[in-house]
Amino acid sequence: MSTGNEVMHDGVMSTGEDARIFPDVEACIDCGGCVVSCKRTWDVPRDEQRISIATMLEGQEAASGLNASSGRAMEQSESPGETAVPMQCYHCSNAPCVSVCPTDSLISKENGFVRVRDDLCIGCQYCLSACPFGAPQFPDEDEGVANLVGSGGNMDKCTMCEERQDVGKGPACAEECATDAILVGTPEQISDELDNRDSGTFFNDVAMDIIFGEDASEFQ
Ligand code: SF4
Ligand code: SF4
Repeated sequence: MSTGNEVMHDGVMSTGEDARIFPDVEACIDCGGCVVSCKRTWDVPRDEQRISIATMLEGQEAASGLNASSGRAMEQSESPGETAVPMQCYHCSNAPCVSVCPTDSLISKENGFVRVRDDLCIGCQYCLSACPFGAPQFPDEDEGVANLVGSGGNMDKCTMCEERQDVGKGPACAEECATDAILVGTPEQISDELDNRDSGTFFNDVAMDIIFGEDASEFQ
């Protein structure tokens, strides 16, 4: 586990079992660095993104301000509008994708990761409909069982860089984020860090319950 200044430097407070991944939307500046680092690390195909940046409240003033493209507004002593949200698989405690997957291709592991078992996925895309965060991706594929049902390739999504966490490294997107906008740690660590930054969770109670389950109470 990282400690001290290192924690503040990279936003990765702990890794491995029970570690979660969650955005600080007020720190995100919509630079796309996380998208690039993920693609480079995992050789993600050009038309697929395991993480993307969603623009919310477009054209409006964000609730607490301080977000993407905010420099000019701040110089004018105005609160900048819009909110940039890093969207990826949050490895939900109550994962809707796991509930709907008819082949048990998606599993919630005891250590907190939601994993796809490629050999079981039939490409039905039920998980795509169930996920509120747009995590499931379906790269085009001409071969395999998925093609039999005519819906493209097997599902792919953010793995929370489980392989990197297994060797004590943080997720690539979190470690390379220039503003530490992607937090990794226990729910308590993430909640404390958001409090320290005087930042919010952005997601509503329903989404927080999906992502954190009982641990959503840490954020109240
Ligand atoms: S596409 Fe694959 S992972 Fe998604 S619900 Fe269908 S079988 Fe499960
Ligand atoms: S945690 Fe890893 S796989 Fe997931 S978006 Fe970040 S870099 Fe990509």
